[in-house]
Amino acid sequence: MSKIWRDLNTELERWKDASIYPIFWIRDDDAIKDGPKLTKLIFTAKKFNTPLSIAVIPFLIEKNLIERLNSYDLITVLQHGFKHKNYEPNNQKKSEFGQSRDLNNMIADIFHGTKLISEAFEKIFEPIFVPPWNRMNHLLLPYIYSLGIKGVSSFNKNLVDNTNNKSIVMNTNIDIIDWKKNKKFIGEEQIIQQLIFELISRRNKKNEGYNEPIGILTHHNQMNDSAFLFLEKLILNTKTYGAQWNSIKEIIMKKK
Ligand SMILES: [Zn+2]
Repeated sequence: MSKIWRDLNTELERWKDASIYPIFWIRDDDAIKDGPKLTKLIFTAKKFNTPLSIAVIPFLIEKNLIERLNSYDLITVLQHGFKHKNYEPNNQKKSEFGQSRDLNNMIADIFHGTKLISEAFEKIFEPIFVPPWNRMNHLLLPYIYSLGIKGVSSFNKNLVDNTNNKSIVMNTNIDIIDWKKNKKFIGEEQIIQQLIFELISRRNKKNEGYNEPIGILTHHNQMNDSAFLFLEKLILNTKTYGAQWNSIKEIIMKKK
């Protein structure tokens, strides 16, 4: 076993010694159609009885995706924007629901997207909005909830909910893809370092930290064999220390 996995185990051992157990969840983005990588991701999750939250792009749904996502009962479908189209100028970070667009147009898109996706996936759809590129205009938050959407999922500090209320933000924390370099697997060393950091910060926060889930962000289309292997090793390894891998529904319940 390499040093980085031993370091992770040392941290997991500390959790176990304190009789506490970390909570993980997986959000996989950009699903539009069936294919070998999506099949492989589902196969991996099934092998370890692990729930998957799959962010689907409503406007681009192909028929075979519906069948594929219904093939495993631990899948929850989330709404990934509407068309996954960038509206920001070239010098700005990409966003479909960013600063450049009129609020009413964005609200109409979200509403249309929810309709398409809820009709396609019926029971396995959970009204959680995942903004493309993990970015959205904060002003949308209060409207989103009035559209019947229960919560929003972005990435780390990209979106913080300041609307004081019942709304739920469930961000992911670890992205396994290196988007700046080659859009491939970032490598286990770097991911595990981040993971250890997330674990330590939760352990130090005591009670409120233990229950804060760690969201693993994947993009099946970008995943190579090492990425799939890593995911398997991570699930297996953390489970031996009592870690839970939750569905988004379980996470929402714990937040309430
Ligand atoms: Zn996306």
